[in-house]
Amino acid sequence: MSVTNRIECKFGIPGVLNHLHMNTDIVVIGAGAAGIAAAKYLQSNGVAYLLIEANNRVGGRAFTELMADGTPFDLGCHWMHSASINPFVSIADELGIRYEKRTGYGSTQLFRNREALSMEMSDTLTEALLMDDRCIRKIWMEGKDISVYDALDATREWSSVADYFTALNTSVDVDKVSIGDIVEYEDTNENWPVVDGYGALVNKWANDVPVNLNTKVRSVDWSGSGVRIETSKGNIAAKCVILTVSTGVLGSRHIRFTPELPILKSEAIEALPMGNYNRIRLSVRPRSFDVDVPERVLASSQTDLPMSLSIRPYGFDCVVGLVAGRYADWLEKAGPAASVDAVGQQLSSVFGANILQCVTGDRQSAWRGDPLSLGAYSAATPGNFGQRSRLAKPVADKIYFAGEATSTSHFCTCHGAMLTGYRAAHESMNSLS
Ligand SMILES: Cc1cc2nc3c(=O)[nH]c(=O)nc-3n(C[C@H](O)[C@H](O)[C@H](O)COP(=O)(O)OP(=O)(O)OC[C@H]3O[C@@H](n4cnc5c(N)ncnc54)[C@H](O)[C@@H]3O)c2cc1C
Repeated sequence: MSVTNRIECKFGIPGVLNHLHMNTDIVVIGAGAAGIAAAKYLQSNGVAYLLIEANNRVGGRAFTELMADGTPFDLGCHWMHSASINPFVSIADELGIRYEKRTGYGSTQLFRNREALSMEMSDTLTEALLMDDRCIRKIWMEGKDISVYDALDATREWSSVADYFTALNTSVDVDKVSIGDIVEYEDTNENWPVVDGYGALVNKWANDVPVNLNTKVRSVDWSGSGVRIETSKGNIAAKCVILTVSTGVLGSRHIRFTPELPILKSEAIEALPMGNYNRIRLSVRPRSFDVDVPERVLASSQTDLPMSLSIRPYGFDCVVGLVAGRYADWLEKAGPAASVDAVGQQLSSVFGANILQCVTGDRQSAWRGDPLSLGAYSAATPGNFGQRSRLAKPVADKIYFAGEATSTSHFCTCHGAMLTGYRAAHESMNSLS
């Protein structure tokens, strides 16, 4: 059962939205973190707006489900990144949502070929990651926008683990992402997990925002004065629109534009495609692990791709495995059983085959196949980091763009999406006056 689908349709009376013909000043499309932030900004400034969401819930890629044992599981975002500059931290405090404070991602025990590695060996990984980072920054400073793959020596020690971390951070493999996405991201190295669920946090934060759920935008006509939005429940005339849907949705043309968006805009959308990243949760019986089990293990070997596993996070009886990039796409396509096998294999490589008898069920995300996001988050293709700011620019003072892909320093994150929502709402409001 979802904890984030309890908001009712609040636009008019629920159930009478089939023939909607409305006028308003600003239409906000999409009720993820960006759309909610935009709506809150407009609301607090007394601007007339409508927030339109195709799904039956708010949050978009921030989505917490309650499992059968009552524990929350984030299918999308889970960590409040760059915590000391992340506005969601104080919102969580205000709303009584629990989180944990960490440096980095907390303690991780490394395993290679089924062997636990010593602290000294783990330190060599940390050093290797620092060297990669220095190398990438140097190339970026020289003015080159190339892929992470081209920037680094593929034969260096720990390359498979380092590349796996890059895939988790960017949702694509190292050959598909610009080094700009590594260097320009504002990272304070504080990643605080939301124990009650980041989706639950976003959902609670959205409680005071009126939203039209189950209302799909089909087209945006920006010829003539103002904009006309065609939705599955009727048409809306407005002065301007804020688009917060993912670059996957923008690129899919599920929303038609009349006239077409300018070529520069479609180039930016194409240059910022969605990668994939899935979270795979296995439920386990109580007391399946020793009490002193590490909270996170990283399993790596010569044959399999590395995988990070959270073991009994916050004392919940489960294991969460993370996959990203092409591997995530491959597993998602192969079906849920393949993902369960993949996590099970890594788990048994660390804890022995008997651990699999403790697994009682699974739940996993499948973001590539979700028609309302079509992937996990945007990645700037090599040579194209600059397209993030181009995507953020409004068109004709009528179409404003928000969403994680339009952030130039907090892209790929939930708080980054929120900040772009405030920015786009501010810009659109100025254009009204
Ligand atoms: C597996 C995973 C793990 C992640 N981990 C983290 C993390 O730990 N920390 C972090 O900060 N970030 C993380 N992220 C990224 C973060 O979740 C996103 O960057 C952020 O939630 C995006 O918000 P948004 O508002 O830009 O877009 P979205 O959340 O995608 O919102 C867009 C909304 O538009 C709606 N929509 C789409 N099409 C239409 C239409 N035609 N009409 C009306 N509505 C439409 C969608 O349903 C959606 O609600 C993760 C993402 C994933 C997938």
